[in-house]
Amino acid sequence: MTNSKLFSAAKKVIPSGVNSPVRYFEPYPFFTKKANGAYIWDAENKRYIDFCNGYGALLLGHRRKEIIQAVATQLAKGTLYCTPTEAEIELSKLIAKNFPSIDKVRLVNTGGEATMTAIRLARGYTKKKKIIKFEGCYHGAHDSVLVKAGSGSAHNGISVSDGGLDEVSKNTLVVQYNNIDDLQKTIKKNKDIAGVIVEPILANMGLILPEKNFLSDLRKITKENNIPLIFDEVVTGFRVAPGGAQEYFGIKPDITTMAKALSNGFAIAAVGGRKDIMDLLSPGGKVYQASTFAGNPVAVSAAISSIKTLNKLRNKLYSKLEKYNLLFSTALDDMATDMGIPHQINFTASMFQIFFSKKPVTNYETSKKADAKKFQKMFRTLLKKGIFIAPSQFEVVFLSDAHTENDLNKTLDAYDAALKSVKN
Ligand SMILES: *Cc1c(COP(=O)(O)O)cnc(C)c1O
Repeated sequence: MTNSKLFSAAKKVIPSGVNSPVRYFEPYPFFTKKANGAYIWDAENKRYIDFCNGYGALLLGHRRKEIIQAVATQLAKGTLYCTPTEAEIELSKLIAKNFPSIDKVRLVNTGGEATMTAIRLARGYTKKKKIIKFEGCYHGAHDSVLVKAGSGSAHNGISVSDGGLDEVSKNTLVVQYNNIDDLQKTIKKNKDIAGVIVEPILANMGLILPEKNFLSDLRKITKENNIPLIFDEVVTGFRVAPGGAQEYFGIKPDITTMAKALSNGFAIAAVGGRKDIMDLLSPGGKVYQASTFAGNPVAVSAAISSIKTLNKLRNKLYSKLEKYNLLFSTALDDMATDMGIPHQINFTASMFQIFFSKKPVTNYETSKKADAKKFQKMFRTLLKKGIFIAPSQFEVVFLSDAHTENDLNKTLDAYDAALKSVKN
């Protein structure tokens, strides 16, 4: 069947034809048949080099052999027990070893569940109500964080969702990213702050880097005011370093959430942190949290294998991807400059994004001002040329270990054509 026919059929039984909003793009998304390594194939057997990579999850590429083997071994032993397993201890130890700020870990299934739990923990710990989040940061699709959020909600122009309660969102205070004065003022004005949640690298408004001292000042101020600091490392955990952005920048938050690159393509997430905070979780503590599929043995086996692989490769993988990214982003920058296209390229580790904007992109406002129509034009040309990036300027281009130099050279050629299509 063609992608177009599948989309017509999907729309009849699935709202807008997709199971997550960012998957939709005009006129219709392609339907995936299979994926392997750096590539993804659609229903019409067209092959794309994948740079969406499960929104960053697939740091090791599709169907990485170590992980597939570990999962196959587990499948022979069962898929769901709903009892504790030894493997959960092993995984929690691996996470705690990679993230020195973490003493204890609770496993959940999605990033949104992890941030929901982290925020409830912060409230339970401080016995306070209000949460500070930063404009453009995306922490999942639940009420207390779906306020001026990035990702699909920015793409679809939704600031607070219909059906979300004002009573909930009024307890979420929103502060400008990279603006410590704004944070300080908000903390001074409000006595009732339970926690601050932040993406240490903002990867849901395109890519926005923390300015020098932003994260260290954030840590200092929250500590001085006894406010738990939550690092939402759902994207950055394992992706920018085996110990996440907190290793990369040398900063210790009180609570951490992680998900995407934790298991290289299985549904698992984690919330971890200081022992005195984590021990508030039920049944020992009074902060309730629960899930049937939490710590299921299939996802746990994938996560163990993924972390072990990353730890083994740590000296090679991260520097290789950083080098590829530097070469790619610099070449792309030169290309756009030579064509006289006003643009910004933000990049770090294995992530980058181009914005069609004259001004540097450092926060929600400057990202929103970038020319989204031009981005869509570029996206469509890239797709035609067999390059799949996430279909929004508010997402990020993710490199994986499976990309070869040859893949990247082909991709650069496609960007050349795509930028020309933007110019005309
Ligand atoms: C994707 C994402 C989430 C939500 O994770 P889900 O698994 O989609 O619920 C939370 N925080 C950040 C930073 C993310 O990028």
